[in-house]
Amino acid sequence: MRHPKVLTSVLTAALGLGLAASLGTAPAAAVGTGTLTRNYAGSAEEAKANQAFFDAVVKSVAKKRAAVPGATAVTVVYSTANAPSFRTQIARSAQIWNSSVANVRLVEGSNPDFAYYEGNDSRGSYASTDGHGSGYIFLDYRQNQQYNSTRVTAHETGHVLGLPDHYSGPCSELMSGGGPGTSCQNAQPNAQERSRVDQLWRYGLASAFKG
Ligand SMILES: [Zn+2]
Repeated sequence: MRHPKVLTSVLTAALGLGLAASLGTAPAAAVGTGTLTRNYAGSAEEAKANQAFFDAVVKSVAKKRAAVPGATAVTVVYSTANAPSFRTQIARSAQIWNSSVANVRLVEGSNPDFAYYEGNDSRGSYASTDGHGSGYIFLDYRQNQQYNSTRVTAHETGHVLGLPDHYSGPCSELMSGGGPGTSCQNAQPNAQERSRVDQLWRYGLASAFKG
């Protein structure tokens, strides 16, 4: 929702200059100067940035809740306006998470708490912040062809809900991401991941209010 035009113009400029090699880094640079959190396939490890991303989502939600004192359910609103190719996977991953956890709910809508983007990035898919405290998820075309696309999307959405990566985990674990390889088709979080998210949204949101 923030910089679709900027992103397009950077891509066009890169192509025009024949900078195919640097094209991979253009989308994230265009979206913002925030730090990369974690790559689906496991090449980047920045726990701090990952936490900053989650904090941004929680604070956005907390702010809205403070404005509507009567609200009880914790709802996290997302936008798919900049990821039209992945609407099916995003809807499926929201459905997966909504049926897996009780303390937080993902809903598509306006005035989003975070947004999905799509494009080409050599680093693959990741969750990040834009340098202004807003979180976004980037979905890389090539990686979503190599790996199960719903698993990639559900994994990245797991970061929205506060889960860290655990690449050494088995395919039955969603946050093991690309660790188990391209043959892994599981897009469901396991029991531990479900209970961790419920814990985070019970206590994480309360602490966000205090801050
Ligand atoms: Zn990840």
